[in-house]
Amino acid sequence: MTEQHEHVRVAVIGSGFGGLGAAVRLRREGITDFVVLERADSVGGTWRDNDYPGCACDVPSHLYSFSFAPNPDWPRTFSGQEHIRAYLEHVADTFRLRSHLRLKHEVLMTRWDSDALRWDIETSRGRFTADVVVSASGPLSDPRTPDIPGLDGFPGKVFHSARWDHDYDITGKRVAVIGTGASAIQIVPAIQPEVGRLTLFQRTPPWVMPRIDRRISGAERWLHRRLPFTGAARRGLLWGIRELQVQAFTKRPGELGIVERLAKANMAKAIKDPALRAKLTPSYRIGCKRILLSSTYYPALAQPNVDVVASGLTEVHGSTVVAADGTRTEVDAIIFGTGFHVTDMPIAERVVGAEGITLAEAWKDGMESLRGASAAGFPNFMTIIGPNTGLGNSSMILMIESQLNYMADYLRQLALLGEGSVLAARPSAVHAWNRRVQERMKRTVWNTGGCTSWYLDANGRNTTIWPGTTTEFRSATRRVDLDEYEVIRARKVPAPAAAADAQVAKDTKDAEVVA
Ligand code: NAP
Repeated sequence: MTEQHEHVRVAVIGSGFGGLGAAVRLRREGITDFVVLERADSVGGTWRDNDYPGCACDVPSHLYSFSFAPNPDWPRTFSGQEHIRAYLEHVADTFRLRSHLRLKHEVLMTRWDSDALRWDIETSRGRFTADVVVSASGPLSDPRTPDIPGLDGFPGKVFHSARWDHDYDITGKRVAVIGTGASAIQIVPAIQPEVGRLTLFQRTPPWVMPRIDRRISGAERWLHRRLPFTGAARRGLLWGIRELQVQAFTKRPGELGIVERLAKANMAKAIKDPALRAKLTPSYRIGCKRILLSSTYYPALAQPNVDVVASGLTEVHGSTVVAADGTRTEVDAIIFGTGFHVTDMPIAERVVGAEGITLAEAWKDGMESLRGASAAGFPNFMTIIGPNTGLGNSSMILMIESQLNYMADYLRQLALLGEGSVLAARPSAVHAWNRRVQERMKRTVWNTGGCTSWYLDANGRNTTIWPGTTTEFRSATRRVDLDEYEVIRARKVPAPAAAADAQVAKDTKDAEVVA
């Protein structure tokens, strides 16, 4: 271990909402010995990468922001990507996070060193070691582009929604948009007036509700600035409404029938052609896939320069895109709105735990972690937005803040246990937690609603969504229960002769499980 490297108490991976939130929380806990490793050249995570036309959040801004960093100046009820990105830059400045950031440091491999009881992290710009790793790389960080035969030979332009090529001028072009998820339904109305012809490949129609978006008035902003409790009350109201909706998703999906009727009325208002309406009407229960919000999607589909192909893209022949139903269309550009590697997060391939296997191998039958954070076999390693921490109807920032509470208590417990202590989730506790989660999942609309979605993994198991309220998750993550962990402590071997420095002594201690 002679190679020069930086050792830190905590290494955070990623600088989106999860990573920056972790950094703020670490500082508030009095921990300043940490770095945030970020592969890109700026912060923001998915809100930096997704800058496609029309990109905005479908959760209201006063709820989609940190409780500890309220922003009285949100310009709209549903803010655009540029405002959310600017907010995250502002958080990095306000909480003095810049000195902790290691930009352009892509994590290539992270290995648990069972002798030194620490993580060994290889990045694209050198090596780090850390007592604790907090992985906040996020579920929406690596775009998924389907393997389409013939795509390589396509002579036109191809890109993914999360890697928009702003140098490409789409004006007047014949464009194929693949997919009808949350990204595609924002892209379609934004580019429809510009393109010559837009062909939308829809494999499964989404349920779409109107989005009541408006400018937040100067008077409201003034009020939130002068009387901060008014901003907090606004947030509380937005949260409470969503909290009350949860039962319908998790326990009584039958109640969602009324929402389906509202969504159908929303479609009927804009789509007068019965054949197109039939194509766009889903055959599964609303909520099974994420409910999408847009007041401009259906009106755009009704425009004369738009075709909806109710079938997936299966092949490309030269400049012709071919759907599963045989429809052939010649296009100049293909835009994939086909989502992300969510249930197979790529960072998992780059983390090797105490048993010498990667997190991806440990999760080959499905992701599972204790309270969404700690995987068995990966000591002192936590995931922010880990397995079963996603939400179907509310703000992910609420879940992130719960996980930050858990992280803070984890670090407090480690400090109380003494220097060199390690917490390793007991496999029995991880399995027990997951059995409870999966038991609750059985009745939810995500499992019973008659759809396949990215919430489900390759085995059909829902490893992404939390089947309860955000309040329940908040209480489940308030404290670390030491009964759910093994405590491993360093057993110091006699120090080598006088010249040995502290680092060498640390490197040569071995471990014992003490609890
Ligand atoms: P997504 O929800 O995973 O949607 C991917 C779409 O691609 C689906 O419609 C899927 O069809 C389709 N698809 C895949 N392969 C296809 C093929 N060969 N032919 C035709 N269609 C194909 O991805 P996303 O829209 O990027 O959204 C991902 C997540 O990002 C969202 O669920 C949301 O959490 C987040 N997001 C949030 C916002 C926001 O406002 N907060 C905005 C954008 C995205 P199937 O349905 O048949 O699988």
